[in-house]
Amino acid sequence: MIVGIGIERVLAPNPGPFTGPGTNTYVIGGERSVVILDPGPVDQGHADAILAKVGGRRVESVIVTHTHSDHAPLANPLAADLGVPVLGYAPGPDFDPDVMLADGGVVGIAGEDLVVVHTPGHSDDHLCFRLGDTLFTGDHIMGGSSVMVEDMGPYLASLERLRGTGLERLLPGHGEPMDEPEEIISWYLAHRMERERQIIDSLRRGSTTVGAIVEDVYSDVDTDLHPLAARSVVAHLRKLESDEIARRDGDEWQSGVRLTVDGRRDED
Ligand SMILES: [Zn+2]
Repeated sequence: MIVGIGIERVLAPNPGPFTGPGTNTYVIGGERSVVILDPGPVDQGHADAILAKVGGRRVESVIVTHTHSDHAPLANPLAADLGVPVLGYAPGPDFDPDVMLADGGVVGIAGEDLVVVHTPGHSDDHLCFRLGDTLFTGDHIMGGSSVMVEDMGPYLASLERLRGTGLERLLPGHGEPMDEPEEIISWYLAHRMERERQIIDSLRRGSTTVGAIVEDVYSDVDTDLHPLAARSVVAHLRKLESDEIARRDGDEWQSGVRLTVDGRRDED
């Protein structure tokens, strides 16, 4: 923790399968000024709750981790009311930043640095923010539920680069704070690699469609969640295709016969 900087959380009223208990909005700052991270969906009650936390302090900016509808839409209207700039990686649906943030960039908070870490995977435009040994993880790492991944290759690389960087605490966009970052990041990586192995095995057993792979690999998961699982399988297949472990032909998939999962080439 950084002395003199407080972090307060305001839970948005949008619980659901993708959002857990709801979106965590963070009010981060000192005695005089704060920034607001991930204001969430447009909701007057939530906006009022955020402003109550801000109290009499000056708001310096409104920041978003990414432009999904549970994180960003309140950013522009709230910032317009406050007369402050909106910061994010890039424009998106219902989101129009005044300042575009890039990896390694810094946002000042009450004299301290909030460092921008570009972490594509959950979405291309996803950012985490580091304050001392604390990382605001958005939807890159969630407290208690599985992350929806758009693109698995960049997602795993974005997890890898957080390893061994001296983090002590993760503050997610959904769920509770997490105090053992290394263990959690390692678990996330292991979990995804296990799924990848299962998908490769399923391809080798002859599954050729996303639906067939879901039935095979997620047979223990409620069928209501299979559409979600299908998106995850597609994200894995995209990675396996770029790794030349899977091949695509229209809607059909096959295992690439030449390359094994650990990168050794099979001999003829
Ligand atoms: Zn989210």
